[in-house]
Amino acid sequence: MPLYLSIVVPLYNEEESVEKLLAGILEVTKQFDFAYEIIFIDDGSKDNTWAIIEQLKETTPQLKAIKFRRNYGQTSAMVAGFDYAQGRIIITMDGDLQNDPSDIPLLLAKLEEGYDIVSGWRRDRKDHFSRVFPSKIANNIISWTTGVRLHDYGCSLKIYRSECVKSLKAYGEMHRFLPALASMTGAKVAEVPVKHHPRKYGVSKYGFERIPKVFSDIFALNLIIRFSSMPLKGFAICSLPFLLLTALFSILSFFAWSYQWTSGKALFFFIATALSGMSVVHLIALGVLGELVVGTSDLSHTRLSEITKKSIEANSEDLDCRSENVNALSKVRLSDLVLNGQDSNEG
Ligand code: UDP
Ligand code: MG
Repeated sequence: MPLYLSIVVPLYNEEESVEKLLAGILEVTKQFDFAYEIIFIDDGSKDNTWAIIEQLKETTPQLKAIKFRRNYGQTSAMVAGFDYAQGRIIITMDGDLQNDPSDIPLLLAKLEEGYDIVSGWRRDRKDHFSRVFPSKIANNIISWTTGVRLHDYGCSLKIYRSECVKSLKAYGEMHRFLPALASMTGAKVAEVPVKHHPRKYGVSKYGFERIPKVFSDIFALNLIIRFSSMPLKGFAICSLPFLLLTALFSILSFFAWSYQWTSGKALFFFIATALSGMSVVHLIALGVLGELVVGTSDLSHTRLSEITKKSIEANSEDLDCRSENVNALSKVRLSDLVLNGQDSNEG
């Protein structure tokens, strides 16, 4: 039976939680009448997390696991889980028992209402104020700048149609922003309130250093969403103030020259015109380079519109999600097409 659901859990030094977590997941999945898998990703733990996973595997056939040689971070762990997952639906959650597996049916039910992504909302969040407050500000900024309004981007308990996340290029700490990134595909995003528990075992893997990282990630995210498919436009917008300065200084240079202002002033305006003009040329040149990079690289997020594309097969009455085929097609290179043409000519 093809797998319907993959539950992806990154784990980093969670030896005290992992067994209880699996028990909690299995308790919920008992009621499922479809095939599922549980994927634990050990993100280079230095404790006994992996040894415990190996033990648990002996009695739990649905359990699969990946081990990183070193700690790569929660985003890389999740991406490895997405790559490995075979289910049509993917659930992610934390492995420290702060998310509650009993919320999984709730997320599934919401997804069935016709959404592509459902994000958990820790309405009654059990973390310290110093964590909750900056996260509220970050949530507001992301919602406002990306247009995907969620109360709680940071909640790992989320559910995705697999085609919406498998093709995203997430790196750094971007796991928090997947709904905003995926919304570029036209994915429909919803949220539901979920339970949240205080951390009982182990320690949080993040400290205050997370705050500047999240804010720089928000900047990067907005750049990606707005300009990754048209970098020239981004650079052209950045060059506008310099263009205005060039115009202003060239007018001043003209007056300085015509009305014989002091030679110091004239020289200053002339040099200022040249410098701001050079800035415009440099920014536009960077934009052109950016276009070349995007055009020749395999940045799948620049082709996001294709990811959730649906098409109607000629002989099928069902809507069929064709993301894989579409992605494969987009990789056909022009040179291949030309080569094929030559072959057929020769033949
Ligand atoms: N995690 C991970 N790699 C890391 C940091 C965290 O796999 O480098 C996992 C961690 O084991 C947990 C989840 O990501 O399952 C969330 O981490 P944590 O609970 O420390 O974050 P918080 O709840 O404090 O935001
Ligand atoms: Mg936690």
